[in-house]
Amino acid sequence: MASQTPALPPSFTPGTDSVFSDLSGFYSLDSNVPGLSKVILNKLNMKDYGDYRAAVEGKTKGISFRNYKEMFQKMEETFKFCTGCNKLPEHLAEGQTLKRCVKCLNVYYCTKDCQRHDWPQHKKVCKTLRLVAIDRLVEWLMFTGDLPFPTEKWSKSAAEVTSWDDWLPMQGDLAPRLDKVVSGANMAALWKNVSRPMPSDDDLRRSSWRIQSEFLSRALTLGMAMRHFGLDPYEKPLTVHLAGASHSETMGARLSDFDELSHMFPGHQGVEVVMVGPEVVDGPVVRPPLRAFGPKHSVYISAYKGLYHQFWEDVLEKEEAVKPDLVVGFHPGFHANQGLVEGWLPSLLLLRDYNIPSFFTMYSETELRYSLQILLELEVHVRESGANPFASQKPEQVQACPNKPPVYCNSHYVSFQGLLPQEDLEGPAAHS
Ligand SMILES: [Zn+2]
Ligand SMILES: [Zn+2]
Repeated sequence: MASQTPALPPSFTPGTDSVFSDLSGFYSLDSNVPGLSKVILNKLNMKDYGDYRAAVEGKTKGISFRNYKEMFQKMEETFKFCTGCNKLPEHLAEGQTLKRCVKCLNVYYCTKDCQRHDWPQHKKVCKTLRLVAIDRLVEWLMFTGDLPFPTEKWSKSAAEVTSWDDWLPMQGDLAPRLDKVVSGANMAALWKNVSRPMPSDDDLRRSSWRIQSEFLSRALTLGMAMRHFGLDPYEKPLTVHLAGASHSETMGARLSDFDELSHMFPGHQGVEVVMVGPEVVDGPVVRPPLRAFGPKHSVYISAYKGLYHQFWEDVLEKEEAVKPDLVVGFHPGFHANQGLVEGWLPSLLLLRDYNIPSFFTMYSETELRYSLQILLELEVHVRESGANPFASQKPEQVQACPNKPPVYCNSHYVSFQGLLPQEDLEGPAAHS
């Protein structure tokens, strides 16, 4: 839902707040550093965004784990531009090279002067960007199977677990599980292939946890959304649609990815999660949705590649899938620009008009604010919004703007259902 590839509308207005995860990310890169998206595609040997998508979806060779070194080099080069003046490597004078900030190993400068000039801004984020640079590599362990590590059964009820601070003590000592990840063969192989020193074990443990938190954040947010709308998985089986599911949720997705929900609601009547989005990546989760109820006590994942409103027309209305009890959207990104609003519009109106409990997350408070504005313009009844207590702990760089404060997956949320009540539409009664 976040994009319609590969055609790029020429009149597209680039957004500036999106992170590098979808099509608007590409425009965002270019609006801040002209030519950067081209550099990324070139380094990855791709001619356009369609190629990039194909590679991400594993349809082309080139990005593979047998080729760690080259891939990481190419990935790193996509971060090479001067944070001070936005100069790209090809615009440097003869003999000049971009130098990396030695503290974070994450941003580059063309000259000492540029770095000195940028320091007042960069120093605010340098410490966090050091973590970003570590996480960007460690997160590949999600694809090797080292992460996520297994989690424990819950000793408290879902109602009692309202944040990470409640969740963590139920897990006991995480150290042995994290140590196993840190000392694994894949971790060693990873750092052998990148042009930077291996961080300390403690840094790697913390990084592994941050990546795991991003993974768990999805299931926990989904469970929180169920509770938010008073949906009880003990009363009846529940169907949750993940509208606008992107490659970040579906690339390498496993059938067990939402099993934390079974820890949250042990012995539930069955939960089905249907991931729907044009960026859905092929894999074991891509299978037809259930026409009726799924297996009790377990979470059943299915996925459909296409826009959400098309899924309704093509599948749901033909009774090949059940109606959702809840629709969740992770970072729909419709705040970013007109193109994405238009892509989402039919789906947002559908959710509104069918009165479906809906719960969307954002990367930042700014995104939330813009999203709220759009929902209000659509006369959607917003129930609640705010900071998500199960936000990912992994900071993410706004790629083309390294000095912007890093953002976090699922950091904020908005819940909405149905049409704004009439009295709210007319505003405060003026005079009689
Ligand atoms: Zn510069
Ligand atoms: Zn730095």
